[in-house]
Amino acid sequence: MRFVVIGGDAAGMSAASRAKRNAPDLDVVVLEQTQDVSYSACGMPYAIADHRRQLDELVVRRAEVFRQKQGIDLRTGHRVEAVDTRAKQIGGTTLEGRRFELAFDKLLIATGASPRRPEIPGAGLNGVMALKSLEDGRAIQALLAGKSVRRAVILGMGYIALEMSEALRTRGVAVDMIKPGPVLLPWLHPDLAAVVRQELEAHEVRLHLGRKLQRIESAGPNQLRVVSEGAELDCGLVLVATGVAPNSGLAEKAGLQLGPQRSIHVDKGLMTSCQDIYAAGDCADAVHVVTGRDVWIPLALRANRAGWAAADNATGRPVELPGVAGTAVFKVFELQVARTGLNAVEAREAGFDPVETVIQSRSRAHAHPGASTIHVQMVADRRSGKLLGVQMVGKEGVAHRINAPAVALHAGMTVADFIQCDLAYAPPFSPVWDPLLTTANQLFKAL
Ligand SMILES: Cc1cc2nc3c(=O)[nH]c(=O)nc-3n(C[C@H](O)[C@H](O)[C@H](O)COP(=O)(O)OP(=O)(O)OC[C@H]3O[C@@H](n4cnc5c(N)ncnc54)[C@H](O)[C@@H]3O)c2cc1C
Repeated sequence: MRFVVIGGDAAGMSAASRAKRNAPDLDVVVLEQTQDVSYSACGMPYAIADHRRQLDELVVRRAEVFRQKQGIDLRTGHRVEAVDTRAKQIGGTTLEGRRFELAFDKLLIATGASPRRPEIPGAGLNGVMALKSLEDGRAIQALLAGKSVRRAVILGMGYIALEMSEALRTRGVAVDMIKPGPVLLPWLHPDLAAVVRQELEAHEVRLHLGRKLQRIESAGPNQLRVVSEGAELDCGLVLVATGVAPNSGLAEKAGLQLGPQRSIHVDKGLMTSCQDIYAAGDCADAVHVVTGRDVWIPLALRANRAGWAAADNATGRPVELPGVAGTAVFKVFELQVARTGLNAVEAREAGFDPVETVIQSRSRAHAHPGASTIHVQMVADRRSGKLLGVQMVGKEGVAHRINAPAVALHAGMTVADFIQCDLAYAPPFSPVWDPLLTTANQLFKAL
């Protein structure tokens, strides 16, 4: 039996390894269009921040290890261009231009996502770069090493854009960030977004909100000009960080059902609308544990977990994944920003009757030195009393604290249940009433 995997990063290589472990005699073939497999894209902004670091440090396991130690037939430089669901065959082209075809018994599509590029003149100029693959990271590192980049303009203000603003400031590069929308981090409560904005301004990152991009043009050797309504910004690097879109073209052409934002629709066992064809990772959708609806939230843990689960199912070990809570965290300069579940707007759209509380608490006990402010927002449903979501911003104690409400969302807890949770306390780590419990107590009174 042959299990073919398209895509050799988080979801694809997790699946290939797991399948080989479950069924050592299985013929596992991975087709990856680039020369890179199994790396931590999430680590790229931090590697780029440090001129001494090589992007290759982020490779988790090398292609030879998969081939020699795990017996996986890993073919890099192989781009899959078509899936024939009836003949159970895929076809494509190698980097050298050779056509190939391959039959499968079970197939996993793990093609990830690609950066969205603005459709403006000049978007293809040299020096206009996105950060998605390791190759992208190497290209940015090489450009920065050339020392021609004194100023960078970042298009977009999502989490990768913000992580990169810090990386570039650390490298001594002046940073402007620009987006057409009027609000920084629209999914974040405005009080918390204001804290992020202050942090960016404190590090001299210039924000240009509400500016529609018009074009990018050359402004001399190694220099670019970003032209928008009301601003012209000259720079040596334009970083495109305006979001990603699922790589679902293959699946769509093959007639597979699509889900939210044109991701590939899968069931809880990662099966697509076609028997024996699975999809996992950034190309596929998931069920949201709070709403029960299909969502597309492309993040790394889900990709790894869905890869495993798809392999389990393909090798006859049935498993279902309950879904995602949309738990995410990122760092921008000194700040940690985290969320899980829904904000009030999303909760209303999902049919809940949301009530929210925003408080400020401390990261350490009263009188314990070194404490900083933790901003917490919590949303619940007035009708059921259920916890729906939490957001936090602060200089310490945010990143891992978000995991407590994430677990509560998976468990379907009410705010009253959450208040009774036995959370850890010692003066260096929190007040005796953890900021989450203080917020939950306030929210309970408002329900
Ligand atoms: C800068 C950056 C920072 C991030 N930080 C975080 C973070 O802090 N936390 C977090 O949870 N997530 C983060 N992510 C997202 C995380 O990296 C992704 O969720 C994860 O990589 C998804 O894995 P995947 O295997 O589904 O897709 P990908 O990593 O996109 O891999 C898909 C692979 O498929 C290959 N492929 C595509 N089409 C074809 C084809 N037709 N034929 C052959 N091969 C093909 C691609 O070349 C690629 O190697 C970050 C991403 C980036 C770019």
